[in-house]
Order: sequence, then structure tokens, then C-alpha cells
Amino acid sequence: MLNFELYNPTNLIFGKGQIEKIATLIPAEAKILIAYGGGSIFKNGIYDQVKAALPDRNIVEFGGIEPNPHYETLMKAVTVIKEQNIDFILAVGGGSVIDGVKFISAAVHFEGNPMDILQKRLLIKDLSKVVPFGTVLTIPATGSEMNSGSVVTIEATQEKLAFGGSALFPKFSICDPTVIVSLPKRQLQNGVVDAYTHVLEQYLTYPHEGFLQDRISESILQTLIEIGPKVVEDPTNYALASNFMWSCTMALNGLIQKGVPSDWATHMIGHELTALYGIDHARTLAIIGPNLYKVMFETKKGKLAQYGKRIFNLTGTEDEIAQEAINKTVAFFHTMGMQTQLSEYTKEFDTTADFIANRFEERGWKGLGEKQNITPEKVREIVTASY
Ligand code: NAP
Ligand code: FE
Repeated sequence: MLNFELYNPTNLIFGKGQIEKIATLIPAEAKILIAYGGGSIFKNGIYDQVKAALPDRNIVEFGGIEPNPHYETLMKAVTVIKEQNIDFILAVGGGSVIDGVKFISAAVHFEGNPMDILQKRLLIKDLSKVVPFGTVLTIPATGSEMNSGSVVTIEATQEKLAFGGSALFPKFSICDPTVIVSLPKRQLQNGVVDAYTHVLEQYLTYPHEGFLQDRISESILQTLIEIGPKVVEDPTNYALASNFMWSCTMALNGLIQKGVPSDWATHMIGHELTALYGIDHARTLAIIGPNLYKVMFETKKGKLAQYGKRIFNLTGTEDEIAQEAINKTVAFFHTMGMQTQLSEYTKEFDTTADFIANRFEERGWKGLGEKQNITPEKVREIVTASY
């Protein structure tokens, strides 16, 4: 196993009725900015619950953080925080609002051009230079509620860029699984596939000695396969909803990544598809992931075969099992309502592979993946295979 440090200070508060506890989690004297997205929280009652839980508090609100949050919008929140002397941010939303709040938190006291946080991928480690924040999660998917990563889109340059750092863990996250009842089917499907792919990014690498990490990863995959299709049909079932929400958090709270290699190239390429075509994050992963496993087959076939045996009970030669495991993954994504070819989302895909490969080259991203062998040339092949 590789050496590792496990640091995760987020206080995760999980279960029904937990939103009531917010007042005990935010310092009494703090001036709070409640940040939210497009307004779903007004329709499903979450806003009312949050307000009821914070009586007599000094609150300012900032709404309109869009899915795949925009730098340009987030900078408006930074201005509000400076003008209003905000000391604490409460993110009420999904990965987009939470990621957006992480950027806002880092940008307020940043000396220099905040765009550098994204374009230079700066590590945000100094707790004295961020605005503390907590979250009320409204959609299980990203794990952002218990990790220190974030992805922000710069509208002006059509770039979707990841950054993060140890100062950007939420102070607390309230995860009430009952919030999922108002989610559209498409978002429930997205959540399952995003979390499933998070596990695959940390699991489908090369055979290693993190036996326990593999078994934990497999249990998350099995749980998502078991409950995913059912929770989409019945989000009011608390057993399904709670296991769905916890699986998503566990898939990307850092635990299964410790002591083992990880890939993340599917996410890096997928971000480009969202930036270019506005395709939902999870759907970009369903397009790219399986094609990446095909193109990088020689690197990944050992773990693909283990995945095929343990998750899908496949038999045959190692190569046969590994190939069939990719087919089974695509079939699962189809069950979860995903279309897995780029041409099913846009007719203007001819130059996509060249565009993305050139962009990676320009950024100096010469070798992605667990072996740093996913070169811009391989990226071109992967994207072409996904047409
Ligand atoms: P999201 O973009 O936060 O939300 C998707 C949509 O669902 C929004 O329209 C939102 O509406 C709506 N919604 C949320 N909760 C709802 C509810 N309870 N009822 C009804 N509608 C609801 O979705 P997400 O999948 O959680 O986040 C995706 C973003 O996270 C992407 O930018 C992705 O790249 C990023 N991401 C981050 C990480 C990480 O580790 N930080 C990992 C993977 C992906 P409102 O706008 O009204 O809220
Ligand atoms: Fe993701």
C-alpha cells in the first residue's frame, strides 16, 4: 500500500430532520450568506426549513448559482461578501452550489487575480485566508459535501477547471436523504452515475496492494447497482434514499483514494464536454469512461478483470472478462437512463477530439491517469471513440 495521510475535518450530519440543527453549527454572532442555485429550494421547502432553523440570525442571501457554476457569477458573490462583511457562508444546494461556495470562500481574501486559482490550479491550504462555510446538501452525487475539491466554469473562455485544497472542506454538511423526493428523474440518474464513476476513477487503475480499499470500492459499486434503478423509480423510499446519499458521499470523501493510485482522466475529459456543449456532468462521464477503458485497455485490464469477476460474476479468460466488464458498465449506464455516445447529444462533434487534445497540449497536460500515460494523442483517440 502507498503511504497516506487521512485528513477530513467535515462534520457530517446525516439523516431525517437534521436541518433543524444548523443554528448549533454556525457561530451565534456570525453574519451569514445563504448561497443557493436556481430556486429549487423555494419549491421543495428546503429554504423554509433552513430559515426556520436560523431564527433571529443576521442573514444575507445570494441566489442564481447555475449548474456547473460560473466564475463570473461567483465573483458577484465575492463582492457581496466584501461589502456586507460576511463571516460564514451556508451553501444550500448540490455539487454546483457547494463547489461555487468553495471558490467564493477561497477568492474573498485572495491576493491577486482570483482566476489564477482556476487557471493555475492553486492549492488552497491556508485556513486563515478562506471564509468558513457549511452546506445543506440537496442532491446526492458529487461528494463535494465531504471533500475539498471544486470545479468551476469560466464562461468567457469556455473552460471548466478543477481546484481545491485542505482549507476547503466544509465545516459541516447536513445530509438529509428526504431532500431527494423533489429531484427530477434525470438528476437522480446523474447522481448514481457520477458517484459510480467516482469509484471507478479510483478503482480501475492497476492491480495494487490496497486490498481493503478495493473491497470498500466494490461495496459502493454493488450498492449503487442494487439501489440505483430503484431509487430513480421511488425516491420516497427512505432505505433507498439514505443508502443512495451515503454511497455518493463515500464515493468521494477521500477514503477509498488513500494508499492507492487514481485516474481522474474521465473527469478531466468530461469537463471539456460540459464546457463545450453543456452536457450534464454525469452524462459526460458515461460517454467518456467506457471509451477510456477501451483505449487504455492494456493498462487497465488487470483491474477490469477483477471488477468483472467481483461485481458482475463474469467468467472466461482475463481479456474476455475485462472486455465484458466494459460492456456491463455501458449496460448499467443505459439502465440509468444515460446515452453513451457524443453524437446523441450534439451534431457538431467532428472537431471535438482535436479541440480537446490541443487544449490539453496547450495546458501542458501531457500525461493524465494513474500511469500518466494518457497523452493528448490518447485523449484524441478516446474522444473519437466516443462519437
Ligand atoms: P447540481 O448541478 O448542483 O444540480 C443539478 C440540478 O438539480 C440543478 O438544476 C438544481 O437546482 C437541481 N436540484 C438540486 N437539488 C434539488 C432538489 N432537492 N430538488 C429539485 N431539484 C434539485 O448537481 P450535482 O450533480 O450535485 O453537481 C454537479 C456539479 O458538481 C458539476 O459542476 C460537476 O462538475 C461538479 N462535481 C464536483 C465534484 C467535487 O468533488 N467537488 C465531483 C464531481 C462533480 P438549483 O439550481 O435550483 O439548486
Ligand atoms: Fe464527478
